[in-house]
Amino acid sequence: MEKLQNFIDGKYVAPISNAYFDNVEPATGQVYSLIPDSDSEDVELAVAAAEKAFPIWSKMSVEERSAILVRLSEGIEKRMDEFVQAESKDNGKPLSLAGHVDIPRAISNFHFFATAIIHFSSESHYMEGVGVNYTLRKPIGIVGCISPWNLPLYLFSWKIAPALAAGNCVVAKPSEVTPYTAYLLGQIAKEAGMPDGVLNILHGFGHKVGDAIVKHKKIKAISFTGGTKTGEYLARTAAPMFKKLSLELGGKNPVIIFADCDFDDMLSTTIRSSFANQGQICLCGSRIFIERSIYDKFKEAFVAKVAKSVVSNPTDPKANLGALVSKAHMEKVLSYVDLAKEEGGTVLTGGERVILDAPYNEGFYVRPTVIEGLAYDCRTNQEEIFGPVVTITPFDTEEEALMMANSTEYGLQTTLWTSDLKRAHRVADQAQSGIVWINSWMVRDLRTPFGGVKASGVGREGGLEALRFFTEPKNVFVKY
Ligand code: NDP
Repeated sequence: MEKLQNFIDGKYVAPISNAYFDNVEPATGQVYSLIPDSDSEDVELAVAAAEKAFPIWSKMSVEERSAILVRLSEGIEKRMDEFVQAESKDNGKPLSLAGHVDIPRAISNFHFFATAIIHFSSESHYMEGVGVNYTLRKPIGIVGCISPWNLPLYLFSWKIAPALAAGNCVVAKPSEVTPYTAYLLGQIAKEAGMPDGVLNILHGFGHKVGDAIVKHKKIKAISFTGGTKTGEYLARTAAPMFKKLSLELGGKNPVIIFADCDFDDMLSTTIRSSFANQGQICLCGSRIFIERSIYDKFKEAFVAKVAKSVVSNPTDPKANLGALVSKAHMEKVLSYVDLAKEEGGTVLTGGERVILDAPYNEGFYVRPTVIEGLAYDCRTNQEEIFGPVVTITPFDTEEEALMMANSTEYGLQTTLWTSDLKRAHRVADQAQSGIVWINSWMVRDLRTPFGGVKASGVGREGGLEALRFFTEPKNVFVKY
C-alpha cells in the first residue's frame, strides 16, 4: 500500500516515529494509502529547514519569487488530471467538481499571489514641514498554515500562496482526512525551483502535529481554516506567545429569498448553494428563509428538484453529489436529521444514507435533505451541520427575515434574492456576515477580503488582506 511522506527541506521523508495510519477512500469506505503520523519531532526538522531557508527566500527579489510561484501554478496545471483524480478519490467529491472548482482554483491561487506580490505596495505619510513616514512590509519569518478537508488543495493553497509570495517560509499541515494533493505539491514546488526548506508539508493528526505547529515558538504566525471549536483552542494556545492569527471558522449561512426575485435563477442557484460538495463548503447556505407569499411555490419546486439530484460514486459523470468525507462525518450529519425530527421538523425529502452498488456499498453517501417546520432558534437551525441538509422557513417581513438570519453565533456569508435594488443594499448592510452575495452565490474575486464575523473567525484572507497578514509593518520616520 502506498505510504505518503512528509516534505521537509526539499525531500520526501518518512515521519521520525515511522508510524502511519489509514487513509480511507470515502467513495468505497476502504483504506487505500497510509498517512505519516507526524509529531513534534517532525515539526522541529521542518522548522530547522525553514530557518535555514528564510534568509535565501526573503532576500530573493520579488520577481524571482514570483517566477517560482508562477511555475508552481503551471506545474499543477500540467498535471491537472492527476490532481483532479487524487482530490476526488481522497475527499469523495464528484470528479467534475474537483475538475471545475478545486484544482482550477488552487492553480489560480498560486498564480494570483505570484503576481499580486509584484503590485503590493506600502504607505507613506508626509508631515508638512516636519518629515515623512514610510512603512516597510517585511516577511514575518516562519509561518504555520493549517487547512481543513472540504476543499483540500484549494484552501491549502489559499494560505501558502500568499505566505510564500510575501517572503515567508512555511510549515503547513493539510487535514489528515485529505492529505493527498498536498502530498503531490512538494514535488511540484521542487520542480518549480523553490529552494529547499521554503515549503515544508507535514501530515498527521491535528491534535498532535497540528498542535506542535501552533505551539512552536519559532513559528510566528498561524493561518488556520477549520471548525470554531478548534479555532478557540488555537487562539487560547497561540495568544500568550503573541503569534499573529488568522482564523477562518465555521458558518451557518442564511439564504433570504424575497418574492420579487428571479425565481428560476434563484432556484437553480439555491440547489447549488445548498448541496455543492455535499453541502461541505463553509459558504453553503443551510438556512433558507422564503417570503411567505412564495413559500409553497418554492417548496414544491425546490423539493422536486432536490429529490431528482443524483447521488452516485464520484467518477459517475451524472453524480450531483458524491460521498461525504468520512464515516464519522456522515454519522454526525445523520444525527442532525434525527435531532431535527425530535425538534418537530418534517423531512420533505432525503434524510437517509444511500447504499450504492458494490464496490461503493460501504461509501459514505447521504441523500440531499430538506426539512421544514422548525423554529429559527432550535439547535438544528443554530449549529453547523456541514453536510447536505437544509431547512426552509417562511417569513413575513424584511425585519423578521433579518432577525432570523442574524440569530446564530456565526457570521460568514449571507445570500439575498430580490429585484428591489434599495432593499438589496439595505439588507446587505444589516446582514451580520463578512460576505454577502446578492442574486448570486460563490462568485469569487481573489482581490476581495474573505472571512467571517462573530464565531466565524478573526481576520481576513484574500488579496491585499492576505499579503498584509503575512507581513509585519515597520514604520520609519525621517526628519527634514
Ligand atoms: P477542524 O477544525 O477539525 O480541522 C481543521 C484543521 O485543523 C485540520 O488540518 C485539523 O487536523 C487541524 N487541527 C485539529 N485540531 C488541531 C489542533 N489542536 N491544533 C492544530 N491543528 C488542529 O475542521 P475540519 O477539518 O473538520 O473542517 C471543517 C470545518 O472547517 C467546518 O467547521 C467549516 O465550517 C470550516 N471551514 C471554514 C472555512 C472558512 O473559510 N471560514 C472554509 C472551509 C471550512 P486533522 O484533520 O488532522 O484533525
